[in-house]
Order: sequence, then C-alpha cells, then structure tokens
Amino acid sequence: MGLFDKKNPPMKKLLLIATGGTIACRETENGLSPALSGAELLDCVPKLSEFCTMDVRDLMQLDSTDMTADDRLRIAHAVRQNAERYDGFVIAHGTDTLAYTAALLYHLLADLVKPVVLTGSMLPMGAPDSDAPRNLLDACRVAADGHAGVVAVLCGKILAGNRTVKFHSTQIDAFLSAGMPPLGTVGTDGRVRWDVPVAPPAQSAP
Ligand code: ASP
Repeated sequence: MGLFDKKNPPMKKLLLIATGGTIACRETENGLSPALSGAELLDCVPKLSEFCTMDVRDLMQLDSTDMTADDRLRIAHAVRQNAERYDGFVIAHGTDTLAYTAALLYHLLADLVKPVVLTGSMLPMGAPDSDAPRNLLDACRVAADGHAGVVAVLCGKILAGNRTVKFHSTQIDAFLSAGMPPLGTVGTDGRVRWDVPVAPPAQSAP
C-alpha cells in the first residue's frame, strides 16, 4: 500500500469558530440567548468524528444583529492566524447577518487556499426538528471536501459567499443565491455535489 490509502484518506483537521446566533441559543429567563459553546455544538453532531477532527475557537457569543465591523474583522483574523494549521474552517453564525459576514470574508479571504464555510440555523441546536445538526454537519462536510473559497451552507445548499441572501425570517429554507444558482448541494446521504466550478483563489492578498 502506498503512503496514501485512497479508501481511507487521512481525516481532515477543521477549526470551528463559534460566534453565537440562534444555532447556539438556549432558553433563558429573558428569552432565547446565545449560550452554547462550540464544543457543546459539536457534541450534538457525533457523526463528525467519521470524517474530520475538530478544534474549537469560541470567539464571541453574539446575536448577529449586534455584530460590528470589528467583530467581523476578528473572524477574518482568526481564520488567517490559523490558516496553516487547519484544512478548513467552519464559522457558526447568526442567520440575520450571516450574509454580510459571508460577503466581507469572501473579499478579505479571496487569496486563501482553504475552505471557509459559514453556517447557522433557524432553530436552536437541541430544539425539536432543529435544522442546526444538519447544517453544522453539512458545513463540516463541505469544509472537509477541500474546495478553497468562502461559502455558506444552509438547508443542503452551498452558496457563494458573495451571493448569499436571507430571504425569509421563519421558514427553515431561508437562504438563496442571488443572481446565480447555488454552487452545489449536500444530500441527505451526506454527499457533497458541486454543480458550478469554483473559482480558483486570487493570486494576491486583497
Ligand atoms: N437573531 C439571530 C442572529 O442573527 C437569528 C439567527 O441566528 O437565526 O443571531
């Protein structure tokens, strides 16, 4: 057998950057509030251990409507600082302004040769029928798939970071790709399918 066993490729090493949002919410006396750590989110998705190893960076615990430009730059720095150490990045984020962070990172990280995948959920992790476990699992599958670039993964769709739009405030399928079809899909069987060729990373830093 060669150094690389095709049937059992080496596990991808991913970093989860947790920022808050509904995905991390718990019921408190003041209503829903981001409270779950990144490690607690990962504990809800045991299937991850089948294809990746994960480290966690709990960067902030915000409702994304409170996120500032500085907070978004902190996310970009967290990815840059760790770019050499990981095969890919997953950012757990509130859905209300996920599209803004995705668009900013799309440009700030245009030269990065690693996948950066934003995800969130319309219902908290642990809530009945929550979309959170699937979205987090799908996001990790896409980050482990290896295509460089900033994308959002929600409800089985892979959306280019600069095309992501939240168009609905309550339904589970709340995001679309503006002006072009989604880049691909993640099936309920876990298969990642790319329908649109992913643009190669930029040659120089922005
Ligand atoms: N207000 C929440 C947020 O954007 C909504 C969500 O995550 O779905 O953080």
